[in-house]
Amino acid sequence: TPLSRETRTVVSPSSVVVGAGAVEQVGEYAARHGTTALLVATEQIFEFHGDKVIDALDTAGVESVSYTDVRPDPTVENIESAYELWKRHDCDVLVTLGGGSSIDTGKGVGILASNDGEIRDFGVDRAGYEGVPEPTPPLIAVNTTAGTGSEATRSVVVSDESTSTKFLIVSENVVPDIAIEDPELTVSLPRSHTAFTGIDALTHAIEAYVSVNAYDIPDSSAEEAMERIARSLPVAWANGDDLDARADMLVGQLQAGQAFTNSSVALVHGLARPLGAQLHVPHGLANALILPYVAEFSAMAAPEKYATVARILGAADESDTTREAADKAAEGILRLCDDLDLTGYLDDFGEVPSRERYLSVVDEMTQDAIDSGSPANNPRK
Ligand code: NAD
Repeated sequence: TPLSRETRTVVSPSSVVVGAGAVEQVGEYAARHGTTALLVATEQIFEFHGDKVIDALDTAGVESVSYTDVRPDPTVENIESAYELWKRHDCDVLVTLGGGSSIDTGKGVGILASNDGEIRDFGVDRAGYEGVPEPTPPLIAVNTTAGTGSEATRSVVVSDESTSTKFLIVSENVVPDIAIEDPELTVSLPRSHTAFTGIDALTHAIEAYVSVNAYDIPDSSAEEAMERIARSLPVAWANGDDLDARADMLVGQLQAGQAFTNSSVALVHGLARPLGAQLHVPHGLANALILPYVAEFSAMAAPEKYATVARILGAADESDTTREAADKAAEGILRLCDDLDLTGYLDDFGEVPSRERYLSVVDEMTQDAIDSGSPANNPRK
């Protein structure tokens, strides 16, 4: 529906700081908002880059307390423990260091700090969309993957270990205030996670673009995100020290996050979440396993959009008709996944689940995917 006939809300962090050395600005921004920061990180990323953030906070006169137990795919327990620290030290500003797992833990702490209730109460299944009444305290996200785009989104993804599911919280009140994107922090991202997180970002851009909720503002972010990811992901994967490619990926994944948070994700994300929750497949790898097949299935329902995807990925050219080009989108995605040797990483995740194990969870996973609501946004049902 044209914007002249419908109102939409476009959400975004109020400031985005991008470029080599951007991390040094975390202290200045934190000092504008408070005096005691809770720094939230995974142990690994804290070891790599925690000192840079703490030094910058120190220099700006901001005290800090660190919670460094965030687990990839963070849990209810992560959020509750970090919140205990927030209360105990009377913190007034949140700083996250890391990718989606750190950022989502920080958002969760912020929800508990400003609202009454347990984190589970704010899931879309209980509270609906926009179910967080009060905004989080000031939240500065120093992003280190490229990535989820969580530093620009209204989503929080939390693992509930009691049910082996991931639940989703969606509210404008959780969008971080400041996003810091420093390519020098992503040089340490291992090759495998460069591939997984990069394909996650590509999935966000493609799903937002073909979604039944797409419209022109997120579409332009999605198109530019796909262009940046297509040209820079193979370079960043092949040479992790290439700062230009790392910076291009940071901007591309940010735009992909902005695209999906203002449009939506669709079938791929609906299916990938239960794969992560039940079988602990890393989120980006789960997306990569599904994305080409969903593109193949869906191209007929959004041919012009998929034709653009195929052209951006270099799988189709102007001599192809729209329908021919659309049918080549899956090929373009598969080629990129092959270039990154993505299926090769499957061997790193232990044994492939036995047929019995798979059959024991597949119905639950299917229901979980449908309940997430994301498949309903897909152009082909
Ligand atoms: P992550 O934050 O889980 O990090 C993956 C691993 O890489 C961790 O072990 C981490 O310590 C390590 N790491 C991160 N940055 C590093 C660096 N620069 N150098 C070395 N190691 C580094 O990965 P992610 O893919 O960014 O986040 C995944 C989580 O985000 C999942 O829980 C997913 O469901 C969620 N997610 C959230 C949103 C949202 O909008 N809120 C969107 C998509 C995904």
